[in-house]
Amino acid sequence: MPQIDQLLIATRNPGKVREIAAMLARNGITATTLADFPSLPDVEETGQTFLENAVIKAAAYSAAAGCHALADDSGLEVAALDGRPGVFSARYAGEYASYETKIQTLLREVEDAAAPDRSARFVCAMAFADPSGNIVWSAEGVCDGELAPSPRGANGFGYDPIFMPFGFSQTFGELDDEFKSAISHRAKATEAFMRFFPDFIGL
Ligand code: IMP
Repeated sequence: MPQIDQLLIATRNPGKVREIAAMLARNGITATTLADFPSLPDVEETGQTFLENAVIKAAAYSAAAGCHALADDSGLEVAALDGRPGVFSARYAGEYASYETKIQTLLREVEDAAAPDRSARFVCAMAFADPSGNIVWSAEGVCDGELAPSPRGANGFGYDPIFMPFGFSQTFGELDDEFKSAISHRAKATEAFMRFFPDFIGL
């Protein structure tokens, strides 16, 4: 039976850390974050897919920190843009561009697209690695929805102010964090993790 001394949430994105830590805590799991390992180097995301990048991050951070690590790679896929920005969501419109700029650039691109399709989806791949960097679990969660015409709401992070989950007229920026954490792409991947984890640690 594997011994888990520490579970590291292997992402530097504070929005993701907050959501994943809250979802794990709801399941009685306390996690550490990269803030507890200030000397760990950044990991380059060289994968072509969300899953490849989640695997790269989980393997690298677990081996570097010497503990089990859960990594998240996620992004927004827009139908009118053939799935872009996808794995480049964080780097879209320039790595250091603000989210106001990223969102305005994205909305403009969608307006200019040949197909007037505003459907979009958030995808989250998660991978879990042991302290030697071996991947022991991975899964993907998807949340379908539509792009709002302009940003609304201050909750969440990233592209949340322009994403309306399927069946809702409010954006993730307007819906509260707890609601997002029940239906989001990250919630679905975390739920899959919670179906795996108790067995893994022999509960
Ligand atoms: P990465 O997984 O660190 O490469 O970055 C994922 C990027 O996708 C984030 O920086 C956001 O721009 C976007 N993203 C992923 N999940 C969400 C979400 O739940 N809300 C809003 N934006 C998200």
